[in-house]
Amino acid sequence: MIESLSLPEFPAGHVWLCGAGPGDPGLLTLHALHALRHADVIVHDALIGSDILGLADSNATLIYAGKRGGQSASQGGISAQLVTLAKADKRVLRLKGGDPFMFGRGFEEAEALAKCGIPFRVISGISAGIGGLAAAGIPVTHRDVNTAVSFVTGHDADTDWAAISAATPVIVIYMGLKRIAQIAAALIAAGRSMEEPVAVVTNASLPSQKILESTLGAVETDLAKTPMSPPAIICVGGTVPLPRSLLRGE
Ligand code: SAH
Repeated sequence: MIESLSLPEFPAGHVWLCGAGPGDPGLLTLHALHALRHADVIVHDALIGSDILGLADSNATLIYAGKRGGQSASQGGISAQLVTLAKADKRVLRLKGGDPFMFGRGFEEAEALAKCGIPFRVISGISAGIGGLAAAGIPVTHRDVNTAVSFVTGHDADTDWAAISAATPVIVIYMGLKRIAQIAAALIAAGRSMEEPVAVVTNASLPSQKILESTLGAVETDLAKTPMSPPAIICVGGTVPLPRSLLRGE
């Protein structure tokens, strides 16, 4: 079926910087699937599961370039490797979780490739903050709730939570599980209610997906009772309880 589409050719010596979505292989784009089938080398992150890598051509070389737990694969090292592989005339697929330009350092890799004159293509993927939450039934916007949404990294100690809190009713936090207690406290200090709904979704879109529904005031204790491990996407705001209305048939 995909063969009937005129998808772009993946030439030797080119790098495709491609998002793989939040995990469910069904959420890959057709470009990503096409690239998986045609790549000679796939340089992938920790979040790319075996179901997705299993779609690669059986002769393709898989290279793990994950940065989990701080054991990197430095960013410079990954970019240099992409350049070397492309210069060796390989079709290089750089496969990243979610979207390569959403907290994915995709642009840094694109810049490194451009600097070395390596031709490349960027292919968007479904970001965890949209597709992962949708897999849990949570919309990031709803006409009755919000006209704007913030996507924030929870990783950065310098984030101005008061400004974000004032800017948007719904806040989607990537990489926030470790610092959830500080983040919730900062949002409450900025004037958000202790009762404000929070959802923590781990392994979103995968069979192992787990959802914890809580509030800003209770999320730390709830997570202590029910520990969850990354990757976790966190949503704060009035869209979090909406999936329950589906169950009630409202
Ligand atoms: N580029 C990615 C984000 C990379 S940062 C994207 O667009 O989705 C890594 C963070 O993404 C994780 O710490 C987590 O917050 C989130 N994430 C990625 N995949 C996820 C998944 N399946 N379930 C929950 N969170 C996920």
